[in-house]
Amino acid sequence: MTSGVRVRFAPSPTGFLHVGGLRTALFNYLFSRKNNGVFVLRIEDTDRSRYVEGAVEGLIDTLRWAGLTDDEGPEKRGPFGPYVQSERIEVYRSHASQLLEGGKAYRCFCTPERLEAMRKELERRRIPSKYDRTCLRLTGHEVQRNLDQGKPFVIRMKIPEARTIAFDDLIRMRVEFVSDRLDDQVLIKSDGYPTYHLANVVDDHLMQITHVIRGEEWVSSTPKHILLYEYFGWEIPKFAHLPLLLNADRTKLSKRQGDVAVEEYRGKGFLPEALVNFVALLGWNPGDQREVFTLEQLIEEFTFERVGKSSAIFNLKKLKWLNEQHLRLKSDAELVKLVRQTLAKHNLDGFSDDYIQKVVTLMKERVVTLDEFVTYSPYFFKDPESYDSVAVRKNWKPDTKVLIKQLHDLWSTLGEFSHSKAESTLRQLAEDAHVSSGSLIHPVRLAVTGVAIGPGLFEMIVVLGKETVLRRLQRAIDVLP
Ligand code: GLU
Repeated sequence: MTSGVRVRFAPSPTGFLHVGGLRTALFNYLFSRKNNGVFVLRIEDTDRSRYVEGAVEGLIDTLRWAGLTDDEGPEKRGPFGPYVQSERIEVYRSHASQLLEGGKAYRCFCTPERLEAMRKELERRRIPSKYDRTCLRLTGHEVQRNLDQGKPFVIRMKIPEARTIAFDDLIRMRVEFVSDRLDDQVLIKSDGYPTYHLANVVDDHLMQITHVIRGEEWVSSTPKHILLYEYFGWEIPKFAHLPLLLNADRTKLSKRQGDVAVEEYRGKGFLPEALVNFVALLGWNPGDQREVFTLEQLIEEFTFERVGKSSAIFNLKKLKWLNEQHLRLKSDAELVKLVRQTLAKHNLDGFSDDYIQKVVTLMKERVVTLDEFVTYSPYFFKDPESYDSVAVRKNWKPDTKVLIKQLHDLWSTLGEFSHSKAESTLRQLAEDAHVSSGSLIHPVRLAVTGVAIGPGLFEMIVVLGKETVLRRLQRAIDVLP
């Protein structure tokens, strides 16, 4: 049984899924799940100039990765489809005609040149740009003549004068607009495609959307939408406008200051659970100090009362921290699977589950992302290709080679290459040679990993295994000074 709550995520396929888009999708999803409702995915692709090939498939794939599966949408059958606006053009045209007939909209034949000149003139006089309604004054006869001459036109919405349009936003409370400030919005463009405003309202009605949950940038469009609902005589849905997302310096969240595409974070090995948790906290809070939430917990806790009005700051450090937390919540078996996928992405394969499991145990407290299993400690999966030059200068002394050679030979005789055996052999050699054990430990690490940092040496070499360790020691002896 559903509660009757129907929400939608209505992205425009312009390239990638913005983190702000993921947040909008998530809040819609949470609200629908919490209320036993239906989550609709609708593709708003009527702006053909912004359309990007493959973006729809990408969006669907990214939402699925994040765990936000739709109940109705382009790939799911549903009673209100199609769920892609470019497949519904006739629906919008017939609704626009309805408005024309009812005197709620009019054809505008003004050329782009005229509109541009008008816009410039208003700008010069510092008056907010607004269509001057020249075409509203055309007689029926003049309109017919223009149509007969095949003049291109748009259909504009007729905004009433001197009206206050108000609505109760679930987050922002009472919001009021004066109609005189509103432009006679274009509803159908000269290419016959609807604008966002018409298509959005028509679909929200036909798809029986009860709650419109979207970003704050759409607040100023809402009065136009409310008028459209009135013109059609339709019930107005409830609105919830989510706070803006800002960079740390309080500028609008943009690409210039870092990644804004969910796909980028996915590509870097962030977990969907962490990203979902992170965007949930961009505007919503649980009312206490808790920060780590699973999707199920978010569904449980989510309410609009706990969504703030003020802008939310995108804090990459928080995302990284959350990713660490979610990595640690995963079982080793899950991590083995994920690390295997990450290895494949880096063209590394041929490792047993048992081996990956050991690497996971050793590294999971040290990495921030899945990719760091490979980028921070690549030496678990391939021999070092080079050696950190600073570490070479510091740790590879003139007598190191001889010592490492001795260690190599001693280790090669070990039947069992265990932590304690490897360690005691090394310490005994250091003692016999009257050197500190550090003067062996550091060069061994360098030879085996190529770098100077990492997990405990003996735990690490046991995971790598005797054969690999001896091979790498020999190679360092051969190539280092
Ligand atoms: N297509 C719009 C967007 O890309 C949808 C806005 C809305 O949810 O009304 O954000």
